[in-house]
Amino acid sequence: MVIRNGFITILDELTRTLRQMKAAGIQEVGCSSESLDALNVWGQGSGNAPVAGSETLEDIRTHLGDCQRCKLCRSRTHIVFGCGNPKARLMFIGEGPGQDEDLAGEPFVGAAGQLLNRIIDAIRLRRSDVYIANVVKCRPPGNRLPEADEIETCLPFLRRQIAAIRPLFICTLGGCAAHALLGNSEPISRLRGRFLDYEGIRIMPTFHPAYLLRNPEKKREVWEDMKLLMKEFPYGV
Ligand code: SF4
Repeated sequence: MVIRNGFITILDELTRTLRQMKAAGIQEVGCSSESLDALNVWGQGSGNAPVAGSETLEDIRTHLGDCQRCKLCRSRTHIVFGCGNPKARLMFIGEGPGQDEDLAGEPFVGAAGQLLNRIIDAIRLRRSDVYIANVVKCRPPGNRLPEADEIETCLPFLRRQIAAIRPLFICTLGGCAAHALLGNSEPISRLRGRFLDYEGIRIMPTFHPAYLLRNPEKKREVWEDMKLLMKEFPYGV
């Protein structure tokens, strides 16, 4: 506890000093690789991100371990970490695993996943070209939406995955993923149809494939969103 409090004091001092330097107009500081390694280690108590770009997806998966950080661990079969190209230019992010995904340990493998595959085909990519993940990595019981405390606990790992992959574009599927990354609560029907920003990465929010299965008339709007994405995406049309 004493050591932990010491670290917290050091980090507080560091934060205060950096803020003062920023206020004084200093734009950057030198940092040795040893210091970066030390900062990474300090970030490992929770899911909080270490220095962006300094870790791989494997590092993040190792740190996640047999995660019991939130209550979703109690009912899961598998942690669904994410899958696809670790250097993807495009990421798809949904809200959480369903029953099929929980059993398989892979995101979007059920009926909604088949529809997502068709969407990916339609934009002339293969599933293996993109990276697919969710806001929470364990199945919410009864396929309910993830709760705020679960999102808060799990989201840092997704943020770290995004920082490791550094995609050009993210397509969020459904309101939960858009709200988690954008930090707002606007209805998805108002968020979709335009690019928004997440830490310099362009986000296209659109409807979740599971919602499309229940509301097939909304597929037209998703196709409009995909056309905007294709227009911008370097490997598109
Ligand atoms: S949802 Fe995320 S934080 Fe919660 S137990 Fe699963 S991996 Fe851990």
